[in-house]
Amino acid sequence: MRLVLATSNKGKVREIKALCQDYEVLAYSELIKEFEIIEDGDSFKENALIKARAVFKALGDKEAIVLADDSGISVDILDGKPGIYSARHAGVDASDKDNLYKLIDDIKAKGANSSPAHYTAAIAIVSEDDEYCVHGWMHGTAKSEAKGNSGFGYDPMFIPLGYDKTLGELDESIKTKLSHRAKALSLAKKILQTL
Ligand code: IMP
Repeated sequence: MRLVLATSNKGKVREIKALCQDYEVLAYSELIKEFEIIEDGDSFKENALIKARAVFKALGDKEAIVLADDSGISVDILDGKPGIYSARHAGVDASDKDNLYKLIDDIKAKGANSSPAHYTAAIAIVSEDDEYCVHGWMHGTAKSEAKGNSGFGYDPMFIPLGYDKTLGELDESIKTKLSHRAKALSLAKKILQTL
């Protein structure tokens, strides 16, 4: 079965391809020209569905099965921010590095050097006849310093529950077992089997 990903985020594409080896997985930009999708939903679920529907429509292929991931980090000491705004925490055109260091500065500004935090992933599946959305979470600690280069985004500042190193320092195979995205995808695969 071929899955088209409604994302061009290289980190997400790499992880989803590694987690879905039984499927042919393509980023939509490998099939059609990349276009801007306005993510104006109020939840991870709404934004994942917005992305999957937009790409399904743009592909114009009734046979297509589109998968979208909307995800982000929520930090307790910041009242759950940046949450659904994780990709633009440091501004609309912010890079992953800008967002990472802005979040570190926000934690420091609270006079703390860490806070409980969690990642959320909503995975939407859209086909001609069906729409689904499933979620996964990974809990841990957000630190006020960045360590390591593995993963992407906020991983250098995030220590998963039960570990003492950041996802930036840990081997990627550990994130593959624990992550919000891995958990959501294991549910998504059960749905894919029924399509
Ligand atoms: P989205 O593409 O709109 O879903 O934005 C996701 C944002 O959350 C980006 O800033 C990512 O860097 C961040 N994010 C989501 N999942 C992860 C992850 O697994 N590790 C690190 N950052 C993540």
